[in-house]
Amino acid sequence: VRLRHEVVALRTRHPFVIARGGAADHRVVQVTLTDADGATGQGEAAPNRFYGETPETVAAALARYEPVLAQGNSWSVEAVEAELPTVLRGNAAARSAISAALHDLAARRLGVPLHRLWGLDPARAPRSSFTIGIVDDEAELRRRIAEAAEYPILKVKLGSARDEWVMRVVRDAAPEKTLRVDANAAWMPKRAVRMCALLAEHGVEFVEQPVAAHDLEGLRFVRDRSALPIIADESCLVATDVARLAGLVDGVNLKLAKCGGLREAHRMIATARAHGLLVMAGCMVETSLGITAAAHLAPLLDFADLDGAALLAHDPMDGATITGGEIRLPDRPGLGVVRRATA
Ligand SMILES: [Mg+2]
Repeated sequence: VRLRHEVVALRTRHPFVIARGGAADHRVVQVTLTDADGATGQGEAAPNRFYGETPETVAAALARYEPVLAQGNSWSVEAVEAELPTVLRGNAAARSAISAALHDLAARRLGVPLHRLWGLDPARAPRSSFTIGIVDDEAELRRRIAEAAEYPILKVKLGSARDEWVMRVVRDAAPEKTLRVDANAAWMPKRAVRMCALLAEHGVEFVEQPVAAHDLEGLRFVRDRSALPIIADESCLVATDVARLAGLVDGVNLKLAKCGGLREAHRMIATARAHGLLVMAGCMVETSLGITAAAHLAPLLDFADLDGAALLAHDPMDGATITGGEIRLPDRPGLGVVRRATA
């Protein structure tokens, strides 16, 4: 299997700011695999500095992974996914692009959408939330909520000094919507407990990553004192983390850029279910190529946060959509993603 890659620069409609700050660099790396018979598959890496990846590290990692693919059998997805981290560990986003491309290639050869190959019913996908990033101007915050009118579920990014104010404005502007909150590891445990009480008054559905990623005792502390379900995101990268988090949180948020591929994502879901945990899938800022790979898992989820491509000013790819929050998977074979015709 031959590999080529291309770095694609993306622009969000609004500056995307979370508790750790805003990122101006939203470059993804798109991978195309071509087998000896000409069959192809594509996937996307959405590198995130928080997890130590950039487009440059992805490109370097792909160069290291190329020999594995050159010698590997494209049907042996499990074996290839298992071998990649033995050549170079970490680099989950880079590996996830290869994983998605191998799944795309296999399902395209079989002529079926990936979700069908997995035996999943797309109608069982939960609705996706739409993210409201951190904004400190009230008129701008209200404008963003108004722009998100079609989405019945909003995910509100918190973790600034003005969290209480943000929640009052959001609830006032969207009295009927389901609200979820993501603190992106910003709070100390005691502040998190106080915030959870306030969020419960606002009817928030759950809270994602209230405290620092490494602070598992903090997660337990908050969960023991909070009426709201606590979902681990930054604390939970791979399936072994899911097992460690059992009993400390109510659920986990998986992302391909953290876990390194669709096989590992399935293992995370199975591990979470074995421990009675809720399962959510999230994303980075990415095109519909990256989003669609994760969206094929949607029928297995309790919660979805797959708005990464919906946040873009222009999405170069056409795949799964979340119009009105409803996740619609393409019927085309494989991932079912095609390049949009440029105007
Ligand atoms: Mg999160």
